[in-house]
Amino acid sequence: MADIKDTLFAFSEEIRLRIILLLNNSTICVNCLTSVIDLPQPTISRHLALLRRTGVLRMTKDKLHSYYTLNKDDPFGPLKKRLAATFYKALKDMEPFKGDFKRLKMVKNYCDANCTVRIK
Ligand SMILES: [Zn+2]
Repeated sequence: MADIKDTLFAFSEEIRLRIILLLNNSTICVNCLTSVIDLPQPTISRHLALLRRTGVLRMTKDKLHSYYTLNKDDPFGPLKKRLAATFYKALKDMEPFKGDFKRLKMVKNYCDANCTVRIK
């Protein structure tokens, strides 16, 4: 079971923060996440694994795709929700986050999975 230290550790790295903010109100497939962040797949996978291990993200699957979203269903759910919302508000207009949201809007148009993207 992840604890509060795991949650804060997960938020403490820029690539992970980029992933978390993209998933703030969205459910996004691995391909879209990789295209938006534009780093090698193994790098993204390593961060996604840590974010799952620390209970920050959860993964769902359909026949062809794996999707990630924020995991708000454990005792730290309200904390994660607030942290994500606070970081989102403070950083959304700064790079690299601003560019990430712009790229996500484009990338999802070419996605053949069922990504649910909500950008406020
Ligand atoms: Zn997608």
